Amino acid sequence: MTKIASQQDDAGKSARPVPRTGVLEISPYVPGKSKAHGTGTLHKLSSNETPFGPSPKARAAYGALGGALELYPDGASTALREAIGAVHGIHPDRIVCGAGSDEILNLLCQTYLESGDEAIHTAHGFLVYKIATLAAGGRPVVVPERDLTADVDAILAAVTTRTRIVFLANPNNPTGTYLPFSEVRRLHEGLPGHVLLVLDAAYAEYVRRNDYESGMELAASAQNVVMTRTFSKIYGLASLRLGWCFGPEHIIDALNRVRGPFNVSGAAIAAGVEAVRDRGFVDAAVAHNSHWLERLTGALEGLGLGVTPSVGNFILVHFPDEEGRRAPDADVFLLSRNIVVRRMESYGLPAALRITVGSKAANEAVIAALGAFMGKAG
Ligand SMILES: *Cc1c(COP(=O)(O)O)cnc(C)c1O
Repeated sequence: MTKIASQQDDAGKSARPVPRTGVLEISPYVPGKSKAHGTGTLHKLSSNETPFGPSPKARAAYGALGGALELYPDGASTALREAIGAVHGIHPDRIVCGAGSDEILNLLCQTYLESGDEAIHTAHGFLVYKIATLAAGGRPVVVPERDLTADVDAILAAVTTRTRIVFLANPNNPTGTYLPFSEVRRLHEGLPGHVLLVLDAAYAEYVRRNDYESGMELAASAQNVVMTRTFSKIYGLASLRLGWCFGPEHIIDALNRVRGPFNVSGAAIAAGVEAVRDRGFVDAAVAHNSHWLERLTGALEGLGLGVTPSVGNFILVHFPDEEGRRAPDADVFLLSRNIVVRRMESYGLPAALRITVGSKAANEAVIAALGAFMGKAG
């Protein structure tokens, strides 16, 4: 005879479904705003999107998919893995594609964390690390940075017997800072073999530093390192949701068991193939970014603002602690001029704003607006 348990029958059980431990500790991710109050052209500089959109070839491939929406995509994203492999000189069998690198980060946590296991990220690391860790039942461990930059010694000091994952965004969002590869190697050498090092290289294409590496070679040779990449930033396909992970066979095999069988859409696969092949398009975007990164940094420093040296497509700008000149005041002022940037309270940086490098017009508008803002109160 089946007994239907009453609500009180089972001590510790609730009258309604309860999420797993950790889920209610998650602060939902707050995306950058996409609206302002002013009139005229809106400059959306709040989510590190490219001012150029995707390669025209990617756009065309996306459009062509409109005639075949009833067909399931290739669940293995074969054409895309082959295109990525050919461009980067890596084996397609060691790549797994996902619906944005967010999905990959979540898959890594789901695959490698038992309940209560620890995953380390740095104080101003990307917010998704914490969310993905908690969602998988893990415990996020936050490690201090030095000068808004990841600190290898602090990370190694935080490793315990429960540590399973170390997340490192290189370069990091929202700080724009990076670790030279000698430091990444030192981090890897200091980690026990069972700890997975996740090198999130979402902004790798933008970096022009001789001592920088995305992590491709380390992920090719080590048994406990993966590198994640995205099509959301320089490739301009954020709306399609597309990212990928490169790593050792045993990790790729595990991720392929856990991921949804059709986790990447046909449109994303088709557009991604063309986007990754269009190197001229990427080179032009990098040249534009390098030019404006320097110009914006110099101009804002000239206004008396602090700018953290960035190697990405965004800058972290620090405002004075003075009535009328604080970061929230600047945000309101920029919004009135139709410029949308990112508030940094959720990253624990309330005195800063993060500003994406935009089009020439957008960057000039930022420089003019912040000039007026800083002149206004002074
Ligand atoms: C933007 C960004 C990503 C990319 O996320 P997608 O899910 O691929 O859009 C990953 N990591 C960092 C640090 C980022 O800033």
